[in-house]
Amino acid sequence: MQPNYRRCVSCRRIAPKAEFWRVVRVYPDRAVSLGEVMGRSAYLCPQADCLRQAQKKGRLGRALKANVPEDIYQQLWQRLEGATATAAIADQ
Ligand SMILES: [Zn+2]
Repeated sequence: MQPNYRRCVSCRRIAPKAEFWRVVRVYPDRAVSLGEVMGRSAYLCPQADCLRQAQKKGRLGRALKANVPEDIYQQLWQRLEGATATAAIADQ
């Protein structure tokens, strides 16, 4: 894989990491975060299909070897809704 490329935990697509959402298991307290923090990372396409699959099949939790709290998924769904709303405005 090229430097700065990452793989989506759901669809296995490879792309520059800037295109993905990053979910981090924070070092050293094992909490899961969406912030710019150090830790073990997993990447996910900012798409409903990938998010749904990650949530349903526990893909993020497996990649991070941690329990991903429900509110992390809620935050990602909210991001997605925000992005969709922005795209709809841009289309006008
Ligand atoms: Zn994906």
